Amino acid sequence: MTLPSQAAIVVIGGGIIGCSTAYHLARDHKADVVLLEQGKLTSGSTWHAAGLVGQLRSSASITRVLKYSVDLYKGLEAETGLATGWKMTGCLRLATNADRWTEYKRLATTARSFGMDMQLLSPAEVKAMWPLMETGDLVGASWLPTDGQASPSDITQSLAKGARMHGAKLYEDVRVTGFEMKDDRITAVKTNRGDIACDKVVNCAGQWARQVGAMAGINVPLQPVKHQYIITEKISGLATDAPTLRDPDRRTYFKEEVGGLVMGGYEPNPQAWTTGDVPNDWEFRLFEDDYDHFEQHMAQAIARVPALETVGVKQMINGPESFTPDGNFILGVAPECANMFVGAGFNAFGIASGGGAGWVLAQWVVDGEAPLDLWVVDIRRFSNLHRDRQWVCERTLEAYGKHYTIGFPHEEYASGRPRIVSPLYERLKQQRAVFGSKLGWERPNWFALEGVEPKDVNSMGRQNWFAAVGDEHRHVREHVGIFDQSSFAKYELSGPDAAKALDWICANDVGKPVGRVTYTQLLNTRGGIEADLTVSRLAEEKFYIVTGTGFRTHDASWISDHIGEGLDARLTDVTEDFGTLSLMGPRARDVLSAVTGSDVSNAGFPFGHVREIIIAGHTVRALRVTYVGELGWELHVPIAATGEVFDALMAAGGKHDIRPVGYRALESLRLEKGYRAWGSDITPNDTPLEAGLSWAVKLRKNTDFVGRRALENVGGGASLKKRFAGFTVDDPEIVLLGRETILRNGEPVGYLTSGGYGYTVGKNIGYGYVRNADGVSNDFLASGSYELVVAMQRTPAKLHLEPLYDPAMERVKA
Ligand SMILES: Cc1cc2nc3c(=O)[nH]c(=O)nc-3n(C[C@H](O)[C@H](O)[C@H](O)COP(=O)(O)OP(=O)(O)OC[C@H]3O[C@@H](n4cnc5c(N)ncnc54)[C@H](O)[C@@H]3O)c2cc1C
Repeated sequence: MTLPSQAAIVVIGGGIIGCSTAYHLARDHKADVVLLEQGKLTSGSTWHAAGLVGQLRSSASITRVLKYSVDLYKGLEAETGLATGWKMTGCLRLATNADRWTEYKRLATTARSFGMDMQLLSPAEVKAMWPLMETGDLVGASWLPTDGQASPSDITQSLAKGARMHGAKLYEDVRVTGFEMKDDRITAVKTNRGDIACDKVVNCAGQWARQVGAMAGINVPLQPVKHQYIITEKISGLATDAPTLRDPDRRTYFKEEVGGLVMGGYEPNPQAWTTGDVPNDWEFRLFEDDYDHFEQHMAQAIARVPALETVGVKQMINGPESFTPDGNFILGVAPECANMFVGAGFNAFGIASGGGAGWVLAQWVVDGEAPLDLWVVDIRRFSNLHRDRQWVCERTLEAYGKHYTIGFPHEEYASGRPRIVSPLYERLKQQRAVFGSKLGWERPNWFALEGVEPKDVNSMGRQNWFAAVGDEHRHVREHVGIFDQSSFAKYELSGPDAAKALDWICANDVGKPVGRVTYTQLLNTRGGIEADLTVSRLAEEKFYIVTGTGFRTHDASWISDHIGEGLDARLTDVTEDFGTLSLMGPRARDVLSAVTGSDVSNAGFPFGHVREIIIAGHTVRALRVTYVGELGWELHVPIAATGEVFDALMAAGGKHDIRPVGYRALESLRLEKGYRAWGSDITPNDTPLEAGLSWAVKLRKNTDFVGRRALENVGGGASLKKRFAGFTVDDPEIVLLGRETILRNGEPVGYLTSGGYGYTVGKNIGYGYVRNADGVSNDFLASGSYELVVAMQRTPAKLHLEPLYDPAMERVKA
């Protein structure tokens, strides 16, 4: 066998993900693609997967990806002649307590919001479908009829054959040993059989993806974990089309296989494999059976399916699979290397995801841009923190252990904390702060009142912080609050061409005079919103860019990647150089003027401006902006001076009743004011026109920018097929979380992208897009009567196109 000396795209790894990616590259894009597998196809994690295929996830886009897998597996045999073993058995999820049942009611609503018919069944109905099951402890079950199961090896072989039919070249027994690089690009893939020059590389090396990535200097934060299941002998009375079963309260899952059962589970004490390199010679290999560790699942499974007590076990599978710190897989272009794409870390749903992941990854490779909102799986959601293998391992094991625990709203991870703290951490702790964590940073979520333990207590209804957050919220509306937002990601873009570069990158006009702050979106070529941030012009050739904590890697790479060819502009990440204190509320000016000699009057320091002011002897970048709908400043303080500046503000604010306020109050305040949150309300799937943000787009200016053409083509106004709107629900018993279905005149027209409570308006607030194929005009919106479906219950809702709380911008801009 001779390898080609060059190829446009080299895919590394012949598991389900590599084969699916190669198939889609060849089928959809007629790409010149070579796939290299170090052993035989499927010989990594794929061959020993159990083969359950579920579709519902909390992200609409990822659900779409998984639905695509199912459609592909159904039809693939007709194309390739090789069966995939796909069986649409449906999936039952069992609930044995009230919280789980509430979770399913919300899940079923999410499913319907995403166009899937999930039903809720009684224990008697479950028993009728699965007679071998003990149902005495059940409250009920959810039922998704379109889920099913497939044969992992057969799908992969079928995809491989399809890839070859469309012209891809697949090679077994070829190991990638390194890369030839020029600057931050791969120019050739080195293998044990010779080198292949190439334009792009796709790293689908499963649990080896970390070490394959490291050879090109990129970080793929995954952790191999041992995962076990058994396959039993035939069980009499078990139907061949029995639904797959998930019994999360007993941490186990089941699937019919040749008359017997596959049974496995997610234990709270998972076993990591190595934090070193995974051995290369792991072809078709498994670990020793570990019945001692598996016993915990066995006991639970027998209680559910008593026939398991007596049936023989044909085989135990104990195989490694790569898991990630947040339970989501890893897709997209690596921030450290311009032409390495990754598809790895599939958290035991690689078979379910394989078809769809290959489809979107292939498109991403060809276009250089994700084809839809894939943020939750985007490799740019990680940061340098994720280079710490021990941290990644700990957090990954926590995520694995939580796979089947009840997903309480607002739940935080506990492991690996505190990791990154702001200089105010101890001070805020003393003020009874309860912290959450974002990209490793500890951030105050709320402040416990005296007599309340400073700790989140999980609950499906209103949680223990509800009243305290209400107090903080009102305090900002009526007095003044101070938010520690030091974890904000911050960059500087400098150079003679900085303004020109931003003109192209930003949808809004940021090339304003020195001293101005501009709120802007960054758009993709479809006009979808890739980022949402502020740009402050500090000097002719220097801009200060501030964005959300979690978007640090993503937004930096987006900006760097889009600086026009040959332009002299350099992006520097200065996140750790500045602490950020947001001083917000009607008394903000009184406090600020007491600690600075600079003019902070409205005339001297108008809204949308940035100034350097001196506080406690330190030069502070003050941005007059707001995310809460009140007068306020974002103060960017040299990091070492953050404590001193905070103390000065707190001391001067004493007579104005200043107090620290947390992120949960911030969320409530912004919901009332109608500010959109990136990642939920505004995503790469949504344009600013649809999101009601056309005022922040420079379409009237004669400057080209990324996404402009797309916006011009789709047009605005009544021709829009979806439009962002707000909703309120009066019933105080309702809890809105996002993904609730929006009904217009009784028909589903969309779902909430975010939901919460507004303490000033005293109502539940939700936002979401109202959709209509014939266009969403103002008339269409206004003439409807609306309801929301919340946990399967319809509740009346009122539509709003204006902010719910608008105190009069004079107050904010005064
Ligand atoms: C016990 C168990 C049960 C599971 N059950 C399910 C289930 O029911 N449903 C489900 O959806 N998922 C399940 N999974 C998960 C599923 O198996 C994986 O998510 C999926 O197989 C991952 O596919 P992959 O292509 O990413 O990785 P792999 O199949 O591991 O493929 C990666 C390939 O890359 C090759 N490679 C690595 N390094 C190199 C190199 N340097 N050069 C060339 N080639 C290289 C490897 O040899 C390997 O073949 C299960 C996993 C386990 C362990």
